[in-house]
Amino acid sequence: MDNCIFCKIAAKQIPSKTVYEDDDVIAFHDINPAAPVHILIVPKKHLPTLAECGPEDQALLGKMALLAPRLASELGVGYADGKGGFKTVYNVGPDGGQEVYHLHMHVLGGPRPWARSL
Ligand code: 5GP
Ligand code: ZN
Repeated sequence: MDNCIFCKIAAKQIPSKTVYEDDDVIAFHDINPAAPVHILIVPKKHLPTLAECGPEDQALLGKMALLAPRLASELGVGYADGKGGFKTVYNVGPDGGQEVYHLHMHVLGGPRPWARSL
């Protein structure tokens, strides 16, 4: 998609602090972190929002979900033995606070009190 910032990051036209990449997804540090660790897991395919995903995206969404705990652990904010942990967030649409209309999962972690309860 022209003029989509996350398509440009996925295509390496804009640099990012990448922590993971494969054929389907890229994950990188958020430019304006809201937690000690704040990454975005982004499909390379342009999908605007979670609400516009369909059954054909099931495997991709599953891959993104499973990547969250793996990358959180690699970045030192994983959950194990009842300790640590992180938060995953999808903002969807204007009332969900979405600013970039290319699907992404936020993964936020680090010792509290950075995170408010939802
Ligand atoms: P949204 O509100 O759409 O769920 O979140 C978009 C996120 O993308 C925000 O947390 C924002 O800081 C991040 N972001 C926006 N532009 C860039 C960018 O060019 N590079 C990186 N790494 N993050 C970005
Ligand atoms: Zn895009």
